[in-house]
Amino acid sequence: MSNELMAVYNRAPVEVERGEGAWLHAADGRVFLDLVQGIATNGLGHTHPALVSALTAQAGKLWHVSNIFRIPGQEELARKLTQNSFADVVFFGNSGSEAVECALKAARRYHSVNGAPERIDIFGFAGSFHGRTYAAVNASGNPSYLDGFGPCLPGYEQFLVDDMDAIEAAIHRPTAAAVIVEPVQGEGGARALDEAWLRRVRELCDETGTLLIFDEVQCGMGRTGKLFAHQWFEGVEPDLMAVAKALGGGFPVGACLASAKAAQGMIVGVHGSTFGGNPLAMAVAGAAFDIIAAEETLANVRDVSAHLKAALSELVARYPDIAVDVRGKGLLVGVKLVTNNREMMAIARDHGLLIAGGGENCVRMLPSLLLTREEADEAVVRLEATFAATRT
Ligand code: PMP
Repeated sequence: MSNELMAVYNRAPVEVERGEGAWLHAADGRVFLDLVQGIATNGLGHTHPALVSALTAQAGKLWHVSNIFRIPGQEELARKLTQNSFADVVFFGNSGSEAVECALKAARRYHSVNGAPERIDIFGFAGSFHGRTYAAVNASGNPSYLDGFGPCLPGYEQFLVDDMDAIEAAIHRPTAAAVIVEPVQGEGGARALDEAWLRRVRELCDETGTLLIFDEVQCGMGRTGKLFAHQWFEGVEPDLMAVAKALGGGFPVGACLASAKAAQGMIVGVHGSTFGGNPLAMAVAGAAFDIIAAEETLANVRDVSAHLKAALSELVARYPDIAVDVRGKGLLVGVKLVTNNREMMAIARDHGLLIAGGGENCVRMLPSLLLTREEADEAVVRLEATFAATRT
């Protein structure tokens, strides 16, 4: 393995070569059923033909001009996002972390331009993940991501999801700026928040003028069987939302969506991104959006999710010494293990199955939204072989 790369990753011993749909091919000829898909970025699987042609067509025209000019693909995608969500305006960056940063900055600036600069408190939740940039790690609910990187930024605080009394008291503080929450926690282990909880937090924010930020970087863009995860709950809408991963269909794209009210402070010169919303990224994301937002795709997510979760539940019932729970929403599925999830990922790989890890000792599945029932069945066969192998 190369010594020239910063040692921040624990890379699996697989030299990847090419991907097609649900399948990933290694340089040594091994073929894997890929339920990780670039950690939920390839929402339509590897190298979807519509995305390949959008990218190649744009590649011969124009790559990059920065945001000093109007970019038609950007305006078109912003229109698609706003027409299909609560949002009035969109800011494009290149990653989930950047989308989160933009939302956090917009929230503080909103209060600042409205005469309340003391409203700086950002409330997050245990088990959440919002990215690796400075504000994002401070907002995340896993202290290990901050280890050695202190001092922490002021104004960030985490709560247990179940501690509604403390959450309520915090949101009522005169210094409250915003709440940031994943409607379905991804890295935390495919943990879906319930409707009543989200409704209550929305109400508290409304009562106090605190802004509500949804981080749908992982659970958005069709992942749960609706375009955005919170759309399962009518009327529970955020003021700001971070989206990325599947938004770019595998190409680096992030977006911060905002209501006109929440975007009030974001005027010319206060924020920016050189690469954000570049023509190449917008061409791929625009093509991906049309397929992801199609009812046929969302219906497939719901159908294959039900099919996969039923089969996984049967499997778990047969292996109570190995796994205890199947959870998540749509095609963000977690299986909570008794045995070590990291070891299980390695054994699964030996059985031709790629699965991710997750909090609370889960293994996580984030397959293509176009996964078929047959591919889901094959995944369960390979997972069963994996479970059986750990018993011997
Ligand atoms: N928010 C959530 C919910 C995520 O799952 C992730 C990435 N796993 C991020 C933010 C950060 O995204 P990125 O790695 O693209 O910066």
